[in-house]
Amino acid sequence: MQQAPSVKWACRRAAPAPRIQLVKILVTGGAGYIGSITSELLLDAGHEAVIFDNLERGHVEALDPRAPFIRGDLRRPEQIAEAMARAKPDAVMHFAAYALVGESMQDPQLYFRNNVAGGINLLDAMRAENVRKIIFSSTCATYGIPDRVPMTEDLPMRPANPYGESKLMLETILDWARRRHDIEPVFLRYFNACGATEKLGEDHDPETHLIPNVLKAALGIKDNVPVFGDDYDTPDGTCIRDYIHIVDLAQAHILALRDGVSGAFNLGNGEGFSVKQVIEVAREVTGRPIPVQMAPRRPGDPPRLVASARKAADRLGWKPKYPDLHTILRHAWAWHQKHPSGYAA
Ligand code: UDP
Repeated sequence: MQQAPSVKWACRRAAPAPRIQLVKILVTGGAGYIGSITSELLLDAGHEAVIFDNLERGHVEALDPRAPFIRGDLRRPEQIAEAMARAKPDAVMHFAAYALVGESMQDPQLYFRNNVAGGINLLDAMRAENVRKIIFSSTCATYGIPDRVPMTEDLPMRPANPYGESKLMLETILDWARRRHDIEPVFLRYFNACGATEKLGEDHDPETHLIPNVLKAALGIKDNVPVFGDDYDTPDGTCIRDYIHIVDLAQAHILALRDGVSGAFNLGNGEGFSVKQVIEVAREVTGRPIPVQMAPRRPGDPPRLVASARKAADRLGWKPKYPDLHTILRHAWAWHQKHPSGYAA
């Protein structure tokens, strides 16, 4: 079986562009899934990282021992202000946020308070310390139901759930900071992050994402995988998503550090897979049965989200190293087999 990528190896092969100088980054949400793996890549590439996280949804075990850790909450302005003053970073990578569509439909305010008000506190702290660059973990959920796929960055923004709306609101706020205060924001609009490195993987509680749930069913930790709706206007009736390897997402952040890079970039492979197709590939990769259970549609789910990442390719020089869904699932499967109960084990 092919091993999950060693990040050292991944970095050597996909070396950041030579014009990127070594810098110090404050990583908010660096104990979470995408933040921890981006920190791992940053440190492997020789950058410095300082991690800021409240550990509400992140994991102590995912913290990289090479990076100083500051425990704090973005909803507490004094905590992020103090962290910014202590770290004095060259740039911020901002991952700390709630990120579940379903939860956001149930409690929109939770999302606006954490993702938007927390983001404003972060921006205030940056301005107080003269930090100009921010690479913001945004999402394709900012577009809502797109008029066409593959989706380019100029599509209308019509979020269909409070999660996407909260990310779009912070993009708008940061864009005004660009226009009025010389902040240099980069909005990385992720499609579906998945996969793992040798050390770090995906562990949410509750876990709502498709791939970890499929793998938990393969491990026998879950009885089956619910398939949320098979009456969508797609070839097999289930929702289509663009699954992108976490190492490729992390690499885009490093490329976006380059001076002069700002604006929005979609990050996906440009290929869509339905829920049923993902389950079928997971059966092949794991060699396990993976029972499914049909379930009603999940509110807020758009039927089809597929990226055009041409702009990221042209302007960032971004080229995913692991675009193949089998490889993504193999890496995720290797991590889940080693960590069947997530980091808690
Ligand atoms: N999904 C599913 N069963 C699950 C989890 C997800 O059918 O247990 C579907 C979900 O409705 C969506 C797709 O899988 O159509 C991807 O969902 P996920 O939560 O992984 O990512 P999202 O696209 O919501 O960010």
